[in-house]
Amino acid sequence: MIPDSSKLHTPDSKLNLTERDQKVIWHPYTQMKNALPHIPIVRGEGVYVFNEDGKRYIDAVSSWWVNIHGHSHPYIAQKVAEQLSVLEHVIFAGFTHEPAVLLAERLLPILPGKQDKVFYTDNGSTAVEVALKMCLQYWDNKGTPKTKILAFKNAYHGDTFGAMSVSGRSIFTDAFNSLLFDVEFIDLPNENNISHLISHISNLKDTACFIFEPLILGSGGMLMYEAKYLDQLLSACKEAAILTIADEVMTGFGRTGTYFACEKLTNKPDIICLSKGLTGGTMPLGVTTCTNEIFEAFLSDDKLKTLYHGHSFTANPIACVASLASLDILLKSETLQNIKRVEAKHAVFLEEIKMHPKVKAIRQTGTIIAIEWETGNETSYLSNLRNLLYAYFLDKGIILRPLGNIIYILPPYVISDEDLDYIYAAIKSALEEV
Ligand SMILES: *Cc1c(COP(=O)(O)O)cnc(C)c1O
Repeated sequence: MIPDSSKLHTPDSKLNLTERDQKVIWHPYTQMKNALPHIPIVRGEGVYVFNEDGKRYIDAVSSWWVNIHGHSHPYIAQKVAEQLSVLEHVIFAGFTHEPAVLLAERLLPILPGKQDKVFYTDNGSTAVEVALKMCLQYWDNKGTPKTKILAFKNAYHGDTFGAMSVSGRSIFTDAFNSLLFDVEFIDLPNENNISHLISHISNLKDTACFIFEPLILGSGGMLMYEAKYLDQLLSACKEAAILTIADEVMTGFGRTGTYFACEKLTNKPDIICLSKGLTGGTMPLGVTTCTNEIFEAFLSDDKLKTLYHGHSFTANPIACVASLASLDILLKSETLQNIKRVEAKHAVFLEEIKMHPKVKAIRQTGTIIAIEWETGNETSYLSNLRNLLYAYFLDKGIILRPLGNIIYILPPYVISDEDLDYIYAAIKSALEEV
C-alpha cells in the first residue's frame, strides 16, 4: 500500500532534535515519565562529544564503557569505510570472510590461557547467552547433564533472560524475577570467607558452570575484589568439574591495566565473553571464546549435539574490521603507556581525597576509579543525590553517570592529563557543594 502522502515524514522545522526525540523515542534505562530532555549529540572527537549548540562534553564513562580510543577515530573510520564498499555483510553459516577469520586468529593468542575457538554474536548479553548455552549443552552432550549455575551476588551480565538470570536480582530484574531460572549466588571472596567458599564449591553437585566478572563487578557498583581469591575459586571449580566463564565484557581490552583482567590469574577460564571495547566502541559485536575441550564435546554425527545458536548479523564484516583496527591501536606501546598513565593519575587522586568526610569508600582497578558518596541512612536523599551529581557534572561539561551514590571515571585511554585534572577538580568541588 502506498502511504498517504500527508503521513510521509517531514521533520517539523519548528521542533529541535530533543523535542522530536520526545515524540518518537523510548530510551534505555530511563523512566520516560519525568526524563530530562535528551541531549542531542552531533559530533564526537577524541574524548569529547559536542551538542547542537557546540557545547563540549568530556565522555568520562566512555559512552557506557565501550569507547577505548576516543570518538570518531580516523584510523578505525578509514578501515570501516574501506570495508563498507567491499563487503558489508554475508550470512555466516555456510560462508566465511577474511575479517572474521583474521580477528579470531589475532584475538585467540592474546587472550588469557589457551582459548581455541571464537563464536561471534552482536553484544555483551548475547556473548553471555552463548557462554551459558555452551556450558549447559557441554554437560548434556557428554551424557552427564548438569543444570545449576553459580554466580556472584550483585553481578551484572546483561539484559536478555539468560543474562538477567545469572545477574544479581535488583530493580532491573524485579518485573521478571519469577521467570528467571534458578542460580546460586555467592559472596565476593575475601580474606575472611575464602575458605568457606572453597569448601562450599567442592561440595557442589550438578553445577554446570561458574560465571564471573573478573576483579570488578561493574553495574553492581564497581565492586572490586582481589585476583588471588578469584584464583582460588577457579581452582576449586576445576576440582569440582565446574566450567568457568570469565565475563570480560567490561574488563577486556586494557580496562583493568592489563589487556584482559584474567591475565592476573594463574588459573584460566574455560570460556571468555567479550564485547564493549572490542570494536573500540564503534559498533556492536560480541565474542564468546572457548577451549578445544568444550568445542570437541559438540562434534558428533548426532545432530542434536550441535550448538543451535546464531544471529542474523553474526560476525558482521564491518564490525570485525572495526575490531581489527581497534586491536592495532590497542597493541601499540603508546596505548599501553596511556593506560598506565591514567592508572597512575587515578592512584594519586585516590590518595588526595580518600580521607574526605563525604568519601565513604574509594577504590581503583586499572583505569577505573569509583567513589562512594557518604549518604547517611536517608534513602530519599540517596536517589536525589544521584540526579544532583549527574546534573552537576553535565553542567561542567563532563559525562559521569553515577550508579546510585557511586560515581566512577572510566575514560577512553587517550584522555589527556589536563582533562583528567579537570574531572578530578570537578569531583573535589562536588564533594564541597553537592
Ligand atoms: C555491559 C555488560 C554486559 C552486557 O553487554 P551489552 O552489550 O550491554 O548487552 C555483560 N556483562 C558485563 C560485565 C557488562 O558490563
